[in-house]
Amino acid sequence: MKKIFILILLVILFSCQKTTLKLTLTPKMSDDSQLVPTREQFQADIVANARGGKPGKPDKPGKPPTPTPEPPSPPPSTGTKIIYVNFDGAWIGQDGRNNDWAYQVGDGSGFYALPSNLTEAQKDSVMDDPILSFSEYNVVVTRDSNVYKAATGWKQETVVTPTKFASGSGVSFIGSGAFSWHPVNFVFEESLFSYALYVGKIVTHEQGHAAELHHQSTYNPDCTLYSRYTDGAKMGAHWSTIGLWITGPSTCCTCIQPDKTILTNVLQLK
Ligand SMILES: [Zn+2]
Repeated sequence: MKKIFILILLVILFSCQKTTLKLTLTPKMSDDSQLVPTREQFQADIVANARGGKPGKPDKPGKPPTPTPEPPSPPPSTGTKIIYVNFDGAWIGQDGRNNDWAYQVGDGSGFYALPSNLTEAQKDSVMDDPILSFSEYNVVVTRDSNVYKAATGWKQETVVTPTKFASGSGVSFIGSGAFSWHPVNFVFEESLFSYALYVGKIVTHEQGHAAELHHQSTYNPDCTLYSRYTDGAKMGAHWSTIGLWITGPSTCCTCIQPDKTILTNVLQLK
């Protein structure tokens, strides 16, 4: 009888541990595994930009680096929403907020995401896309870590890094801007040919995930998936176009996602 009691106790204990583990380690992650431009796409865009035929600011490899722009002053209100783009490297898993990634990537002991190899001019160019994309929403887009640290409400850090630990061009948890433990998300610059125009687009895309957006996907008439990434959508793929927030099918063919309505709910309009 005593043995049976101990056995039941062990089963209960094991189930509890399992539930706790699942809850703490598995926030929903974006599947950006196939979101990468091809070399052909990259070369076509470089040629088009050189001719001045496409929008966007092309990189100028020969240009001397410009000084880091003066960051804006810290916001007066700690409740200000912040999008922080970090080019300076980050320790992952060394603090509570990034342990999710440490467990996703390895055994939880953590790793260092290296600083970006982009030039200062390229980093400035990267910022153009998120600044423009979120311009109508009540959120500050910054490179200043102090602005990010001062904020206590909705905020999301994107680490732009050559340290690539997942397939695709970036990765994020869905809705992570509102998580109390504030895990970062990532953009893998080398998957994007270190091309500022593409890197900026994926910063916006990953920040979209952090603001609760799923992918905009395209479906066949019979509702089978045609493409995980709708062409021309910021939450799809838009390498050589400006890219838009749209209303369209997302996680299923009848799951209509209104990007702008969700962003307005999460970030509010200016
Ligand atoms: Zn994505």
